[in-house]
Amino acid sequence: MTQLIAILNALIGFTAFIVNPFIGLFWPDLPEFVPDAEPVVIVDKPYSLDGYSILYDGRVATDKSAAEFLAKTLNEIVGGERFEAVGDAVPAFSKEILVGAIGGEDIGGLGDEGYLIKPVGDGAIAIAGGKRGAIYGVHRFLEKYFDCRWYAHDFAVIPPNPGAKLAEVKEERFVPTLEYRETDWISPRYKEYSIANRLNGNSYRSIPEEEGGTFGYCNAGFPAHSMLNEFLKPAQYAGEHPEWYTWRDGKAKQLCLTNPEVLAQMKLEVGAQIASGNGQAIITVTQDDNQDYCQCAECKRVDAEEGSHAGTMIRFVNEIAKEFPDTLIDTFAYQYTRTPPKITKPLPNVVIRLCSIECCFAHPLDDPNCSFNAAFANDIKGWKAISNHLYIWDYTTDYGHYNCYFPNFGVLQRNIQFFVANNVKGIYEEGNHQAAECNSEFADLRSYLLARLMWDPDIDYGAEIDGFLKAYYGDGWQYLREFIDLTTANAGTKWPHRKLGIFNSPTDKDLLNMGINKIRYADALWEKAIALAGDEACAQRVRRSQLSWRFWKGCNKAAEFWRLQPVEAWQAANEALYKDLKAFGITRYSEGSLLIPEPPESWWGTPEDWRKQ
Ligand SMILES: [Zn+2]
Ligand SMILES: [Zn+2]
Repeated sequence: MTQLIAILNALIGFTAFIVNPFIGLFWPDLPEFVPDAEPVVIVDKPYSLDGYSILYDGRVATDKSAAEFLAKTLNEIVGGERFEAVGDAVPAFSKEILVGAIGGEDIGGLGDEGYLIKPVGDGAIAIAGGKRGAIYGVHRFLEKYFDCRWYAHDFAVIPPNPGAKLAEVKEERFVPTLEYRETDWISPRYKEYSIANRLNGNSYRSIPEEEGGTFGYCNAGFPAHSMLNEFLKPAQYAGEHPEWYTWRDGKAKQLCLTNPEVLAQMKLEVGAQIASGNGQAIITVTQDDNQDYCQCAECKRVDAEEGSHAGTMIRFVNEIAKEFPDTLIDTFAYQYTRTPPKITKPLPNVVIRLCSIECCFAHPLDDPNCSFNAAFANDIKGWKAISNHLYIWDYTTDYGHYNCYFPNFGVLQRNIQFFVANNVKGIYEEGNHQAAECNSEFADLRSYLLARLMWDPDIDYGAEIDGFLKAYYGDGWQYLREFIDLTTANAGTKWPHRKLGIFNSPTDKDLLNMGINKIRYADALWEKAIALAGDEACAQRVRRSQLSWRFWKGCNKAAEFWRLQPVEAWQAANEALYKDLKAFGITRYSEGSLLIPEPPESWWGTPEDWRKQ
């Protein structure tokens, strides 16, 4: 057997030796990517904050934290201790930054989160807003006039400016459209990053009230699938009341939503949770994560009448909403409940969280030519017509292969704009919620873009990408932008089209449809990005993100993993990739499986085999 492998190996090596140069003849020359010269931005900065005081009203805790953060950051900018936040002073409206209520600005209409930046008096600047408005306004001020960015929890850009010079301050008033903005990945778990990028949910962070607090869920656990997991737990009730549940293989799966006892018990438990909860605005009452809806005679009758399994769900949730009119009662429009009911409308305090799990993420959700998305677009219009409180649960990575590149950068902005255009008021952009165990796939870029887009869907998306790449990955950043554009253009191009779903295999051409020339070109882009990165921290970030591209190539037996070369060569590529995944601390393969903790017995096969079942 060993001899046979050795002979085959020699044959492959010999064939590759003969064939390679000829194949090379038919490959077009790679265009040499010449980065565009950076645009020269001339910003007139005739003003200076030197000598300015920062004043706040000591009675408003959030204004104090906003003013103190402004002083701290301006001190970093000027490289000294020139700024101090002073409470309860009487403003002179000259050479002052008035944070929050102290300037007496009219903040009507700004709500909890809107801000107003305005030149006032003789050279003073007011930064005012409601609950979180002043702190968000301070961040906007630092971004706009001092180019500060909080790109990752461990990486902020605070450009030095010893004279605190700035352009003329213009009046600006902004109120976000989305009342709830949440995403996961790694950086959004950190308070300072979340405040800076205006994430206000409470699932991944806690922000004290004096720093603005959060707008989130009062459930005891993660706000999803709370029926059975948080409320009406089968371990407690199934023995005495088996009829409350649907059953499969001896396990309770969903509730019978037309059983009056189930409703009564749910009201009791929801009420208790609201009473003992954390004061947040929303409670989720959501179906478990399976397809086993109730099929008893009454549930069937209601669902038939409503033309959707959302029929029993919305009637049930409406009853809870009537009982607790001051709380938002959240439920899913997910899988079997995604289609709106024909008759029943959700009450005003019911939140419908519509989930895009079946969609294609190569094409925007409003692309009528992508059949997967056309069906979703139809459902969102249906819900928009009957609900005044529509939220979205959206998906932004490959949950079956976290370490593989997921080419969805082309849809992030258009999808969020599409949601907002359909009256959506809250979004949870689910990403890699286990990224702490497998951060390899542009994680910080994605979470940054998602947070920025949820705050303002009409940002200059390209400029935000460029700004991030340049700061985070160093001087070879344009090559990474080229890689992102190249892969975006080659996602969802295969015909016939299936979809770029959130569980696609890396070998599925619907995920990425790239031939040998484009792969070689992409490789050259990564090489240059590393070579030009500048410092080691940036080079390491490039290498970490490159893991996802190498993973895709490994699964597709492409480039250095190509099989028409000596076995030792492509097996060495497998081994190097595995070792680098480990070296970067990656321990997880997918949502449900770990990366094998020890190297495989042999390097035959592909990275898809490195899943611990
Ligand atoms: Zn039933
Ligand atoms: Zn598609």
